[in-house]
Amino acid sequence: MTYRVVWFKRDLRVWDHAPLAEAARLGPVLCLYVLEPALWQQPDAARQHLGFVQESLKDLQAELRRIGGRLQWAVGDAVDVLERLHRQAPFLELLSHEETGNAASHGRDRRVKRWCADHSVPWREFRQFGVVRGLRERRHWVRQWEQLTHTAQTPEPALQPADVPRCTEAWPSADALGLDPHEPPLRQRGGRAHGLSVLQSFLNERSAGYRGGISSPLSAPSACSRLSPYLTWGCLSLREVVQATRGRIDDPALPARQRQGLEGFMSRLHWHCHFIQKLETEPAIEHRNMHRGYDGLREHDHNPAHLQALMEGRTGWPLVDACVAMLRETGWINFRMRAMLVSVAAYPLWLHWRPVGEWLARQFIDYEPGIHWSQLQMQSGTTGINTTRVYNPLKQAQDHDPHGHFVRRWLPALQRVPDSWLLQPWLMPPDLQARCGVVVGVDIAVPLVDLDLATRAAKERVYALRTDPAVAAGQASIVRRHGSRNRSAENLSKPRQGQALAQATLDF
Ligand SMILES: Cc1cc2nc3c(=O)[nH]c(=O)nc-3n(C[C@H](O)[C@H](O)[C@H](O)COP(=O)(O)OP(=O)(O)OC[C@H]3O[C@@H](n4cnc5c(N)ncnc54)[C@H](O)[C@@H]3O)c2cc1C
Repeated sequence: MTYRVVWFKRDLRVWDHAPLAEAARLGPVLCLYVLEPALWQQPDAARQHLGFVQESLKDLQAELRRIGGRLQWAVGDAVDVLERLHRQAPFLELLSHEETGNAASHGRDRRVKRWCADHSVPWREFRQFGVVRGLRERRHWVRQWEQLTHTAQTPEPALQPADVPRCTEAWPSADALGLDPHEPPLRQRGGRAHGLSVLQSFLNERSAGYRGGISSPLSAPSACSRLSPYLTWGCLSLREVVQATRGRIDDPALPARQRQGLEGFMSRLHWHCHFIQKLETEPAIEHRNMHRGYDGLREHDHNPAHLQALMEGRTGWPLVDACVAMLRETGWINFRMRAMLVSVAAYPLWLHWRPVGEWLARQFIDYEPGIHWSQLQMQSGTTGINTTRVYNPLKQAQDHDPHGHFVRRWLPALQRVPDSWLLQPWLMPPDLQARCGVVVGVDIAVPLVDLDLATRAAKERVYALRTDPAVAAGQASIVRRHGSRNRSAENLSKPRQGQALAQATLDF
């Protein structure tokens, strides 16, 4: 029995799947998914992620059957699973996509690599994103992204009937894996079929609302593409989404609004890989500040009561608490509201980005470590290369929910609060509270801190470090390693005269 193992990770599809096509070209294939309890017990894993993966595996199973194959899944440490399989019947090669994951999956990959070397089993990893392994310098990065996304998609192969070992085991329950019982009831469903229909509805209709619609939490759920979980878990390939988008943009009959929307969407598809590249280049940024000059800034005065209030949606600032409520129900919220949540955590609540990021990772159905941790640091001001951007939740409410529709939908206790009090309901006099059926401190929280004072103090602390000559001197090397050559991509701070930062080439 000679065969190859194709290891499905965060690439749950058969279309545009180079490792599968390559293995199928060479002979019999064992299609394997490994459910690794140690990874599901990490603080960034959530029941909703497991549910999404299970739904996606169902589709993958059906797709594999259609092309003559079968999906098998094993439970345990990946090295142990490979060892068991190899003992049953040695395999010739391991093929998979490259993965830029968290520290646990990174460590697992290193151990798999060692196991492969010890057993003389080649492990071939294929790229699926515009992320470059071993990259030292960001210059010209965008060229490789263009090349990758212009290459033809890999069609699904026909699999030969194969006499391969059986390894499928019982799928453990989310409870057995120790996952928190909460699962957002309205979260997006997994699987390629859902992914394709979301893609079609966006390309054909919803993209008309993208420009101008993605910032408000009211319009964003339909104006945004909503493709993030399908990209994260690989139900769709990045390349197929990019090429389908290019195809629509090139259609001369496409209405202008849709074209503008799709152009904006296309920049985000660059950002997807641009941010993942940061974690690929420097895995340590999942746990420590991108700019080490910010070490010690927030680590020592962590306030657990602030974190608890934020996680429970009891900060007292209605837009913030409404976003937390929406996340609990749907597992998704738009970019601006994510940035605002982190900004509120990092500035007025003065929380370190790591525990906030762990909590948000579990809230987001699309949790993608590379994007997530880079964004957490960027919005918390610890990259050293981005302009400090602080989102005031009252101003965001005025700009993006001026009539309180969003806040009232997700915080029903505020239904009868008049518009004029909706930004600061804790200031309502007792008789008005009684008329609106709201008790401040019971139905809605009193803010934990004075927003203006706490934000000003936080900004001063960050600014003092930012302007410290020793910290400023560290910027240039971070820009070389991580900086986008396009200022709009990540709001790079303007270089001051004479700084090496000024040498950053703008090539996309
Ligand atoms: C604190 C914070 C944490 C985030 N964590 C994640 C995460 O774990 N996973 C994730 O996919 N996105 C994350 N984002 C980025 C962004 O908010 C989501 O990608 C977006 O809201 C997903 O919805 P969509 O697919 O409808 O987005 P669209 O606007 O339709 O964008 C299309 C795709 O482009 C990519 N993209 C969009 N915005 C960004 C961005 N700012 N940076 C990098 N890529 C982007 C995503 O892959 C997205 O699916 C985070 C943003 C912030 C501020």
